[in-house]
Amino acid sequence: KAVPSVVLLALAFSACGQNDNGDDEDNAKGATIGVAMPTKSSERWIADGANLKKELEAKGYKVKLVFGEDDPDQQVSQIENLITQGVKALVIAAIDNKSLNNVTQQAADADISVIAYDRLILGTKNVDYYASFDNEKVGELQGGYIAKKLGLEDGSEKKYNIELFAGSNDDNNTRYFFNGAMKVLQPYIDKKQLVVKSGQTDLNQITTLRWDGATAQKRMEDILTSSYKNGKVDAILSPYDGISIGIISALKSDAYGSKTKPWPVITGQDAELASVKSIIAGQQTETVYKDLRKLAKVTANMVDAKLNNKKPEINDTKSYNNLEKVVPAYLLPPVNVDKSNYVEALIEDGYYTVDDLK
Ligand code: BGC
Repeated sequence: KAVPSVVLLALAFSACGQNDNGDDEDNAKGATIGVAMPTKSSERWIADGANLKKELEAKGYKVKLVFGEDDPDQQVSQIENLITQGVKALVIAAIDNKSLNNVTQQAADADISVIAYDRLILGTKNVDYYASFDNEKVGELQGGYIAKKLGLEDGSEKKYNIELFAGSNDDNNTRYFFNGAMKVLQPYIDKKQLVVKSGQTDLNQITTLRWDGATAQKRMEDILTSSYKNGKVDAILSPYDGISIGIISALKSDAYGSKTKPWPVITGQDAELASVKSIIAGQQTETVYKDLRKLAKVTANMVDAKLNNKKPEINDTKSYNNLEKVVPAYLLPPVNVDKSNYVEALIEDGYYTVDDLK
């Protein structure tokens, strides 16, 4: 039986009608979202930008996407521009987590929602939500991988030399990665089963400004010269693939990767193409894979919910205190990847094709 058109019309109206708060759901439709990514110097952020654009456009939003060049001042002025251009929400992966207080205040004054993407923004109440991975778990995976690979977890009593690298000191994730890794490694260092010959074990001695591979390479070269005239390094905690590549270059110059000097266990993060290839070639040992496609989906859903005055889906309300408040978060699980599981983890998952990895 035909439904009268008046009824159809009424149904259509109620479908795009009011939400729980009585606001018009269509308010947000067609709004522009500003997406501020930190740099194009690493694959992951280029992918993040593209994924976010795709997910937000699929929900009917317009997207203005900008990349800072790892320069905090540039990022601040880019965000100021986005605010001037009338965006309704900002998705920000901070370069320097403490440099955004003014600009997030400007956003709040203009009633613009702010979502911290992957890296938490510190020292401001003007950040609504946080979408990221379980960052402490990333470190636990890296530290745990080293302990397992060296046989420490299986009760081996052998002694090994290890060196520690951390990320940028202005990135809030850095200390989560480091603390997670040290949760596993510190007990072995305490009982001298793991020895840090350089003596550099404090976070502030081992950070790598802006996650720069060349900076890490230089530091590794200095350590090899100063502390490894005798003996060799057996493991290196590296927080990020780009840093691992710098470390590997330094090791190569010192004849590592030969019969007499095998590669140490070297961790990483992001499953960047060059590093997955390096893992397949037997140089880097491990990386932590984080499915960026999922992070973009979670974030786009957050934006959409927030702009429609609905509650975004969150799964963590305690881990991320930004010094002003605990920021409600959605955290995704990171995954260990090495030579033994990259096919299943990265190819079967559709993250890379077989050809990508040739
Ligand atoms: C991200 C990592 C990335 C690093 C360097 C961190 O904030 O969580 O995935 O490796 O920045 O870009």
